[in-house]
Amino acid sequence: MTSDRVKIAGRLKELLIESSPLIEKFTAMTCPGCTDVCCRQKHGLYRERDIRYLQALGIDVPRRDPSRPLEGPCESMGPQGCVQPRWIRPFLCTWYFCDPLLAALNEAPQRRVRRLTGVMQEMIDLYDYFSRG
Ligand code: SF4
Ligand code: SF4
Repeated sequence: MTSDRVKIAGRLKELLIESSPLIEKFTAMTCPGCTDVCCRQKHGLYRERDIRYLQALGIDVPRRDPSRPLEGPCESMGPQGCVQPRWIRPFLCTWYFCDPLLAALNEAPQRRVRRLTGVMQEMIDLYDYFSRG
């Protein structure tokens, strides 16, 4: 494991923690009334890049039950939402913005939106690093 990989994973973890309250300001507006919740088992699966990121942090990748229906609710879904901290979730859970979320962003103060999009862009760039084998 190269030290670059460990540093990049550490920075990505920091940004995921930092971005979480920014994102939750928006999800708090849209998710409680949602009738088509996006947290399906197939979205909560760990992809190669997620696995490499968690391995660089020295974290065990959460197990997923292969017998659960992929279209059913994600097994990390609890009564109050996801039970996993954002930095351990698959990255898709953070960068997916549904239409109502995008609409909430469009109506929000632009300063707040710029801060979030800046952090998102940095996270996407860091996450891409883990596409290298
Ligand atoms: S992110 Fe969008 S699709 Fe997912 S639960 Fe919230 S409102 Fe529904
Ligand atoms: S946010 Fe949590 S509950 Fe939703 S799909 Fe991702 S891991 Fe599963």
